[in-house]
Amino acid sequence: MESPSFLPSSSPVPVGPPLLNWAGNYRYSTTRLAQADTTEQVREAVRATDQLKVLGSRHCFNGIADSTQQLLALGAAEQSISLDADARTVTVPASITYGQLALYLHSRGFALHNLASLPHISVAGACATATHGSGIGHGNLATAVRAMEMVLASGEIWGLSQENDGDEFRGAIVHLGALG
Ligand SMILES: Cc1cc2nc3c(=O)[nH]c(=O)nc-3n(C[C@H](O)[C@H](O)[C@H](O)COP(=O)(O)OP(=O)(O)OC[C@H]3O[C@@H](n4cnc5c(N)ncnc54)[C@H](O)[C@@H]3O)c2cc1C
Repeated sequence: MESPSFLPSSSPVPVGPPLLNWAGNYRYSTTRLAQADTTEQVREAVRATDQLKVLGSRHCFNGIADSTQQLLALGAAEQSISLDADARTVTVPASITYGQLALYLHSRGFALHNLASLPHISVAGACATATHGSGIGHGNLATAVRAMEMVLASGEIWGLSQENDGDEFRGAIVHLGALG
């Protein structure tokens, strides 16, 4: 597995409190924001609270990322990415941004089928909201996802794939704040 060199974020979000979204027009209901840099830290955070929402790059302009109890940000410390050129798939951490991913793929002769207007939104956040690019013949960004892993409330890791899990998979990818 290669270690990519990532661009620094070109879109800093406001530093709280109060905790605001990127545009500054939505105020989250708690300032309790934890940071998880490893999968183990995500599992610990999930086990430690009854209700929690994960924040991506905070570009969403409504309350679907909000929680009154606990917010969790995923750090970059353990970001790793791996490309399977034969299968034409890439495995990425949820918090990677499309700007980072696009550069990584481009340097290896690959590209995504579509992109949104902003490079600094996270893959998990963009897919969760059915973020789209341009062209009626291209699916939204979530349609490029073949498989995903998520941390359940119990702390267990659950895998879902487009091939095996049909509607369950599609509902988990575009979850609109119902998960995470
Ligand atoms: C200026 C601007 C331009 C935009 N342009 C476009 C566009 O061109 N096309 C388009 O379709 N949309 C566009 N959007 C909408 C944007 O793509 C969405 O708001 C998207 O959710 C942003 O991703 P995020 O990483 O900021 O997610 P956030 O706003 O942080 O979170 C969104 C949802 O994803 C969930 N989530 C985030 N990370 C995780 C995770 N690791 N695990 C589980 N759930 C997670 C959150 O809990 C929340 O429910 C735009 C928004 C803005 C403000």
